[in-house]
Amino acid sequence: MPASLSDDERQGLCLLGSTGSIGTQTLEVARLFPERLSVRALTAHSNVELLARQALAFRPECVAIGDAAQEGRLREALAGTGIRVLAGAEGLCEAATLDGVDTVLTAVVGFAGLQPTLAAIEAGKKIALANKETLVVAGALVAERLEATGGTLIPVDSEHSAIFQCLVGEPRHAVETLILTASGGPFRTRPAETFDAVTRDEALCHPNWSMGAKITIDSATMMNKGLEVIEARWVFGVERARIRVLVHPQSIIHSMVAFTDGSVKAQLGVPDMKVPIQYALTFPDRWPAPHPRLDWSELRRLDFEEPDLDKFPCLRLAFEALERGGTAPAVLNAANEAAVALFLRERIRFVDIPRLIERALGELAETPPQLSFETLVDADARTRRLVKELHGVGTH
Ligand code: NAD
Ligand code: MG
Repeated sequence: MPASLSDDERQGLCLLGSTGSIGTQTLEVARLFPERLSVRALTAHSNVELLARQALAFRPECVAIGDAAQEGRLREALAGTGIRVLAGAEGLCEAATLDGVDTVLTAVVGFAGLQPTLAAIEAGKKIALANKETLVVAGALVAERLEATGGTLIPVDSEHSAIFQCLVGEPRHAVETLILTASGGPFRTRPAETFDAVTRDEALCHPNWSMGAKITIDSATMMNKGLEVIEARWVFGVERARIRVLVHPQSIIHSMVAFTDGSVKAQLGVPDMKVPIQYALTFPDRWPAPHPRLDWSELRRLDFEEPDLDKFPCLRLAFEALERGGTAPAVLNAANEAAVALFLRERIRFVDIPRLIERALGELAETPPQLSFETLVDADARTRRLVKELHGVGTH
């Protein structure tokens, strides 16, 4: 057993989005290493019950609830514990910049993750990034702020973690292509002619991963892989032309890097997010953990196929938005978030998701000379308004 470290020597963690799929799995990892990780701050959007339970179990210095209307209930639940209660967007930013926090793991879903991530970068925190939408919307800005502050960002997304692991010890000039693998989602083999009839429950049923609702729908439309290509462009500073998507239905190879000498490195494992979550916290070290192991006697074959951009137009739209630049990725992201929310409420059909996004890109994407945070917030808000309007007048 390693000697127990004093409180100050443990890695102080702020977990943004602790009640979600990545958030709860991060706490499972934290539970394995009480002598090395100290949970200093937890945040959630509105799930007061779970956030309060987590706070009682991990005893952070503070908790923040994004939905300020829930602040009173959270205060009540934590009365007498000495845990500080914060609320709203400012509360999230304050939690992400606390003195005792070394690493901010961003497991918020969607655009809401951008502001606290930027605040954490400015405060010199190490970022363990699950919230891919932050890089989709503001990749250039985040890369610039990381560069300016000498900050570190380590990806949690399994594909990016795989590529990050493949790149350890490799010279940048020797990288030829980043190959992002994709499961293909639940509709890989379903004929496109039947997509009109896709139900919410069918789209929520992912073959290999158990995740939050939004990313599960993104996997069904393959927008998730489009968002991940944009994410990879900024995490690794590699041009679009050198990022490739390959469908690999078994999700055993989490991604690969092809080098200029013809060599290819892949990272493999059981599909379990606790592995890349933990790696983002332990890099450049690895800590022994009881996560599931690959069973080589069960592993019969690894299949690969090209993605079908006609069948999955969201993937094509994401590639186009990245190539276009400016506010196009922010518009793509906001239109997708708004459309997925409508689909989850059974207000639009599955096939309406790419249609709404294409329409929003056509009407709103711009290439202003300066891409400030305010420009991106404005593009996001205008896109959400447009999707609402379009939905109001009917998109069928
Ligand atoms: P989830 O819906 O399960 O959880 C989202 C979390 O964010 C919750 O704690 C929620 O309270 C919080 N949240 C939501 N809206 C918020 C707001 N407006 N303000 C503040 N907090 C808010 O989502 P998830 O599946 O855990 O995904 C989280 C992020 O990680 C996403 O960006 C997703 O793309 C990425 N990711 C997830 C997985 C996975 O396996 N779930 C894998 C790779 C990447
Ligand atoms: Mg992924």
